[in-house]
Amino acid sequence: MDNRIYMDHAATTRLTSEALDAMMPYFQEKFGNASSLHTFGRETRGAADNARAQIAEAINTTPEEIIFTSGGTEADNLAIKGIAEANEDKGNHIITSKIEHPAVLNTCKYLAKNGYDVTFLDVDEYGMISLEDLKDSITEKTILISIMFANNEIGTIQPIKQIGEIAREKGIIFHTDAVQAAGSVPIDVEAMNIDVLSASAHKMYGPKGIGMLYVRRGVKIASHMHGGSHEGKKRAGTENVPSIVGFGQAFELAVQNMEENTKNITELRERLIEGIKAEIPNVKLNGHRTKRLPGNVNFCFEFIEGESLILMLDMRGIAASTGSACAAGSLEPSHVLMAIGLKHEIAHGSLRLTLGKSNTKDDVDTVIEQLKDVVGKLREMSPLFAQEKVEAQYV
Ligand code: PLP
Repeated sequence: MDNRIYMDHAATTRLTSEALDAMMPYFQEKFGNASSLHTFGRETRGAADNARAQIAEAINTTPEEIIFTSGGTEADNLAIKGIAEANEDKGNHIITSKIEHPAVLNTCKYLAKNGYDVTFLDVDEYGMISLEDLKDSITEKTILISIMFANNEIGTIQPIKQIGEIAREKGIIFHTDAVQAAGSVPIDVEAMNIDVLSASAHKMYGPKGIGMLYVRRGVKIASHMHGGSHEGKKRAGTENVPSIVGFGQAFELAVQNMEENTKNITELRERLIEGIKAEIPNVKLNGHRTKRLPGNVNFCFEFIEGESLILMLDMRGIAASTGSACAAGSLEPSHVLMAIGLKHEIAHGSLRLTLGKSNTKDDVDTVIEQLKDVVGKLREMSPLFAQEKVEAQYV
């Protein structure tokens, strides 16, 4: 490893050696098609079944209720379009929030263009939905509530159990995009009243290109991949056995080590938040102060552009992000920061630092020091900052 500091774990994580080791035999040695009846096939079927059981246990369900997909995006698409299509006879109203990941937001927008009625709930300044608003927006035609478990930009964790209770009381299906939460915070689909849940391996030190959708037994969902009868006829295509095995291993490990990782990472997060607030003026922490993912830190730095910050930090060997990986490259301010009520000019100065299990106190201290310097330099070059200084003289 080089000495660069990686603080972009919400974008993706490094595959753990345990997952890599578990995957290796399934590339060459054990290459059978998991649907084949011979020994080669039975060998890989067994490995995929084992991973399905590891994942089911991680969220407290049964293996039959897990469908493997190519990632979180596909899982979200399958959940929302699949439930909408299979439950057309019951209604056409879907409730979601304004701060969902594009995988949910754009899927809902697509359905809205195709005859569905979609309510996009507002959130408060911390990124929380209101349970009252949720209850008020339910109609006789509501078939699905899709609210993310934890936000990928600001880390806010929603009141999932209560949302599930409201949905269950009304007989509405509750889907949650748990791509950022899974592997970082405890998930129990039974205790939390979750009917459908998306997760992705690469956010929890597993391989990229593999995800899953939990679908509670009895929930009607239409398949969008037409083909063979894989994954309980819900998602056709030859199983990606090495990745499935890696996912199972990564999820099991994440749950086993969750308590320790959460403790360490939360401590680092607090050190980083307090350090930035103490060392750099004119900053604002985004997201909920306590109900947030252990590793998420998101700040706005007044008078500067988030992109310049990222580039200057990168030149100093620090990997951070502005908004979500998917929104990067767009000049629009983040829809999440807009939804929590930030002004355009403030939202443009956002920086997301997401900590992971390999980060140390030294990393945090280096980031605070470098950030202070970079922010100072960028502000010196900023016409907005110069103007602010002039105006301040006359106050
Ligand atoms: N949902 C959330 C909340 C995410 O953060 C992401 C990825 O950033 C996704 C969905 C998409 O997952 P994937 O990258 O596995 O397609």
